[in-house]
Amino acid sequence: MPALVISDLHSNIEALTAVLSDAGARSGFDVVLCAGDIVGYGPDPAAVISTLQTLDFVAVAGNHDLAALGQMSTSEFNPVAAAAAEWTAMTLTPRDRAYLESLPLIREYDAITLVHGSLRSPEWEYLLSAEQADAQFALQTTPYSIVGHSHLQFWFEEHPGGAPVMRTARDGTTLQLGPTRLILNPGSTGQPRDGDPRAEYMLYDEAAATVTWHRVAYDAQTTRRKIIDTGLPPWLGERLLEGR
Ligand code: ZN
Repeated sequence: MPALVISDLHSNIEALTAVLSDAGARSGFDVVLCAGDIVGYGPDPAAVISTLQTLDFVAVAGNHDLAALGQMSTSEFNPVAAAAAEWTAMTLTPRDRAYLESLPLIREYDAITLVHGSLRSPEWEYLLSAEQADAQFALQTTPYSIVGHSHLQFWFEEHPGGAPVMRTARDGTTLQLGPTRLILNPGSTGQPRDGDPRAEYMLYDEAAATVTWHRVAYDAQTTRRKIIDTGLPPWLGERLLEGR
């Protein structure tokens, strides 16, 4: 069965629920791989964490997870993100904190290395250029790495002796896996930023040697209302409706 690959859930339980049910209806999955930012921005950290704990779940921590734990200063966050990090820190139960604290920054799973930003800067780097992809491949010891952080669906192909090539993925894009090493980004489940509000995920099918990107609509109006009701900055709800 394929692995469900997600990232940047950002405490959005409506989006996570829609992704789990869409992936379940499509092919099913036996493990969930996550490239970090489970919490931050959104109104439901506890529900997201408890849902993940019912699954076979392999994850790394992202910058928003570390900020909510107080392990990272929010001085480099924008004011809205910093306010959300403070709210999340106050909301987390000791059990939820312990779970987030157990997550490493880099983790290998079969042919895959999981990291939130990049291998040379797991918490901070937005891996989007050929030069950055080159640096990633130099540190990558597995055929594939999965990154998040930029909230965009894409992949880089390694070309030994040449520059890595970036390709944008869309809903339904399928990539045949071969000997070429890859960096893959599943996009963001809980806060897409490419102008399409639908939640993003990826299915990694080792047996069929394919990766497929998907999107699914979810009830972002409910998430937005919860953001307002909990006193989080209203913009965090507005942006979900627009996918930015
Ligand atoms: Zn994020």
